[in-house]
Amino acid sequence: MFKKILVANRGEIALRIQRACRELGVKAVMVYSEADRDAKYVKLAEEAVCIGPPPSNLSYLNMPAIISAAEVTDSEAIHPGYGFLSENADFAERVEKSGFQFIGPTPENIRMMGDKVSAKQAMIKAGVPCVPGSEGELPDSPVEIRRIAKAVGYPVIIKAAGGGGGRGMRVVHTEAALINAVQMTKAEAGAAFGNAAVYMEKFLQNPRHIEIQILADKFKNAVYLGERDCSMQRRHQKVIEEAPAPGIPRKLIEKIGERCTAACKKIGYRGAGTFEFLYEDGEFYFIEMNTRVQVEHPVTELITGIDIVKTQIRVAAGEKLPFKQGDIVLRGHAIECRVNAEDPYNFVPSPGRITLWHAPGGPGVRVDSHVYNNYFVPPNYDSMIGKIIVHGDTREQALARMRSALGETVIEGINTNIPLHRELMVDAKFMAGGTNIHYLEEWLSHHKR
Ligand code: ADP
Repeated sequence: MFKKILVANRGEIALRIQRACRELGVKAVMVYSEADRDAKYVKLAEEAVCIGPPPSNLSYLNMPAIISAAEVTDSEAIHPGYGFLSENADFAERVEKSGFQFIGPTPENIRMMGDKVSAKQAMIKAGVPCVPGSEGELPDSPVEIRRIAKAVGYPVIIKAAGGGGGRGMRVVHTEAALINAVQMTKAEAGAAFGNAAVYMEKFLQNPRHIEIQILADKFKNAVYLGERDCSMQRRHQKVIEEAPAPGIPRKLIEKIGERCTAACKKIGYRGAGTFEFLYEDGEFYFIEMNTRVQVEHPVTELITGIDIVKTQIRVAAGEKLPFKQGDIVLRGHAIECRVNAEDPYNFVPSPGRITLWHAPGGPGVRVDSHVYNNYFVPPNYDSMIGKIIVHGDTREQALARMRSALGETVIEGINTNIPLHRELMVDAKFMAGGTNIHYLEEWLSHHKR
């Protein structure tokens, strides 16, 4: 096991990794920007290094600053968390070239999965079902593009090969709108991701977003830890996640889970990863793979009893996975609500000082948040300030616990989306389970305050 790890992230995931390190008896070096000087995990750290001013590109995205922080603190490995540099293959490469272990997959695997066109091609080769669409990057010829769209069938979705975070996508319903949409998506993708390549998929009308969590070691052992349902989204961003996915037969999950672990073995994947699928009419369609720990990992931890972050660190240190597929037992139901500092209905970010913070508790309630009383939410980063996660024997019990937890939560001084979550937890369709990826936006468009 490592003696010391550098945590190259901020907020709740930095704290989550720090906690995993404590349990493992590993020292965690925290890095912070000037805006995060007062973060509690920084104050409580054995060692902490300031890596730059508030803007992310000068701090959390500053590769030389992070690598020299690892050098001066004699760290052995770097955990990238999620977001920031976590899926940057060049960063992973520089980390390893500088003599540190990157806690994640190989740079080659990150690169392959980071380009959605090459990821899809790899998955087709590995026998993982994908959304029907263009075979690879779209060509320049409008005639060819029209031909492909006709073959795929309208509506289609144009997606950036380098896209992420719900950006770089455009739905097209008619041939008349096609070429213009492709050109606009290309221009945006070039500007936002430095890669103008786009591809085409059939736009599925009413799918659910179902993803498979996997863990793999350096010895080609891989397991899947069941699925998560992340269909409650706004602007392609997840708001509520749960596990298991209501109403999907176990047999189907097992079949797709086995495909995912087989793909991991085939490409030599190591660490934690998530295969994201759209699910419609009993079929799974791969959309992308995330080569890192995800925001919603706790719901899987609660139903499997497996600590995903600790396992990431263990396999990076060269240990074998301590369990086999047959050892993975799913118990009960878990739900996560992302708590964002924003207006609950118009979603305008609401950074600022939290004058009162009271977190919920009780049986089956977990709060992953770096926030505390009198904490200042900096305006420079993502609006998520934490997650409330509950576990129950059944989905009904989990829902009841979430209602109770949200009822206890008090956050004053800033706006949060807690009122939205409270309403959704008593919404008849959400309570019935199995809502699709459009449900939340439709709900919001009819919502009266
Ligand atoms: P990102 O990397 O930006 O998250 P994804 O490819 O994972 O992009 O897609 C994000 C979301 O966009 C999905 O969860 C789904 O809601 C929607 N989406 C993506 N592809 C399709 C498709 N072919 N049909 C319908 N919806 C899609």
